[in-house]
Amino acid sequence: MTTSVRPVIVGAGPAGIRAAQTLVAQGLRPVVIDEAPRWGGQIYRQPPAHFERSKKTLYGFEAGRADAVHSAMAQLLRQVDYRPDTLAWNAEGGQLDLLHQAQTSTIAYSHLVVATGATDRVLPLPGWTTPGVFTLGGAQVALKFQGCAIGRRVVFLGTGPLLYLIAYQYTRAGADVAAVLDTAHLCDQLAALPALMAQPALLAKGMYYVGWLRAHGVPLHGGVRPLRIVGDTRVEALAWADKRGEHLLPCDAVGMGYALRSETQLADILGCRFQFDTLQRAWLPERDPAGRSSVAGVYLAGDGAGTMGADAAEWAGERAAWALLADAGRPAGATNATRIAALDARLARSTRFRAGLERAFPFPLQWAAQAPDELVVCRCEEVTAGELRQTATVTGATDINVVKAACRVGMGRCQGRMCAAAASEILAHCTGLPLPAVGRLRGQAPVKPIPFMVAQAAAAPHQGAPA
Ligand SMILES: Cc1cc2nc3c(=O)[nH]c(=O)nc-3n(C[C@H](O)[C@H](O)[C@H](O)COP(=O)(O)OP(=O)(O)OC[C@H]3O[C@@H](n4cnc5c(N)ncnc54)[C@H](O)[C@@H]3O)c2cc1C
Repeated sequence: MTTSVRPVIVGAGPAGIRAAQTLVAQGLRPVVIDEAPRWGGQIYRQPPAHFERSKKTLYGFEAGRADAVHSAMAQLLRQVDYRPDTLAWNAEGGQLDLLHQAQTSTIAYSHLVVATGATDRVLPLPGWTTPGVFTLGGAQVALKFQGCAIGRRVVFLGTGPLLYLIAYQYTRAGADVAAVLDTAHLCDQLAALPALMAQPALLAKGMYYVGWLRAHGVPLHGGVRPLRIVGDTRVEALAWADKRGEHLLPCDAVGMGYALRSETQLADILGCRFQFDTLQRAWLPERDPAGRSSVAGVYLAGDGAGTMGADAAEWAGERAAWALLADAGRPAGATNATRIAALDARLARSTRFRAGLERAFPFPLQWAAQAPDELVVCRCEEVTAGELRQTATVTGATDINVVKAACRVGMGRCQGRMCAAAASEILAHCTGLPLPAVGRLRGQAPVKPIPFMVAQAAAAPHQGAPA
């Protein structure tokens, strides 16, 4: 039985590491692939090996968990086939196409755990392509991985818990945070309190960040309407409005994000069935409570199949590994059954907490209506909101894929990873349809940019292969 089980895990974040640990404990030797140079994923991203910053400095309250996750993987290194700096860029016929040091290769799997995490959800505003504008996550990566701030005077804009966390991390690191501008209102957060009580420790941390920022004089504004970024060659100011009127805030960098969006392209290419998730306002690959996708042998764990946070990612990674083991004919014994029941209970609790977060930091529903025609939505192909609206009007198209074919939105380097959410919002608004009715941009290989020559070389054997 063991010889026929060749599990591959994509993603060495909290979900992927816990999945690997569980498989190893049951006698398997999984392959663990990650495009990052070191394991840890987003939240527990490790700095380059020669950087000497303590875990406490890097991860704050999460230092203990970061250490636990890092150590778990460090102890597994002899028992897994770990492949850092390796991008899984395509999937076909039970194999993954990999890219490592500009060389492509394939790897076959019997079972695949997709634990690819999330990135920021971006909602453009006029001027967002000006140098000095980063995603919130990008701003945090600069601090965690490069040990630098994105500017001398930084504004954080958008909504979601990361807004306050990253402002806190920047201020603690000595950066000048000019303001935190949240499109959500205080009343949203108050209304969400009962659901957020499902994970009191996380709620307490969030409240601490807000209290700490206030105590350190960082201006926090809710109910904000972002207007535009001012500056030609570099950010000079951010214009925003609230019920008191319009404001111009001098700054040289902006970090912005509206919660996270799951990295679902690999699941899409694998043929997983998707459904629209009303809570996260996104199309997500279906998974059962144990992490099984609609494709036999493919498991989904962590933020890659719906953002649930780092702790839930660890539980979901382990849970998916147990599902894989059961499907591979290695059912859990009585002791492990208790463990699995506990995981299921924790995951159910984190789902309630997730609902609370969406209530506390709701998607700014008015964004599409307020987006001016000249706003660049797809920066790779320079498609504006006006062009999207015109395409929908002229062609009568209501499907985002048809609009893509007509005006190239989402057809550039990022393959719609950055612009698909915003473009779909514009299309739904201008056609008067509910968001799910405009569909979703279908995932295409490569899931992330790869060198052209590599793509050509990889295509050659497939072209010559018998049908
Ligand atoms: C930029 C950013 C910063 C965040 N910071 C915080 C924070 O400070 N605190 C907090 O509580 N939460 C934070 N979050 C949320 C938190 O990171 C997640 O909840 C948690 O990390 C999810 O764990 P995961 O294992 O599902 O995914 P991740 O930790 O995101 O790990 C996914 C891994 O998969 C790899 N990967 C993805 N696609 C491929 C591919 N095609 N081929 C190969 N490898 C691939 C990535 O390199 C990554 O290492 C952040 C999220 C983001 C996006």
